[in-house]
Amino acid sequence: MKECQYFQECEFVLHYVAQVKPHWDDFVTLYCHGDFQDVCKRREAFVRFKTRPDPDLMPTGQRVPGILAALPEERQDQGTT
Ligand code: SF4
Repeated sequence: MKECQYFQECEFVLHYVAQVKPHWDDFVTLYCHGDFQDVCKRREAFVRFKTRPDPDLMPTGQRVPGILAALPEERQDQGTT
C-alpha cells in the first residue's frame, strides 16, 4: 500500500515512534505503509474531521502511555536500543 499522505507531518510518528525506536516500528509498517491505514484513528482525524490530531493519539485510538508522554524531548534523538 502507498505511504500515508500524512506520514511526513504525523506527530505521533515523528515524536513517539522515533522516541521508542524500534519498539513501535510495527505501527509504521502496519498503519503508515500498510492496510491498517484505512482504520487509523489519526488518519480519520486528518481526513474526516479536518483536524490535526493530538500527538499522543495512537493509530489504534488509544492514548500514548503517560510514562512516554512525560519523557523529555531530548530522548527522541538518543534512541532506546
Ligand atoms: S499514524 Fe496514521 S495518520 Fe499518521 S502517518 Fe501513520 S497512518 Fe498516517
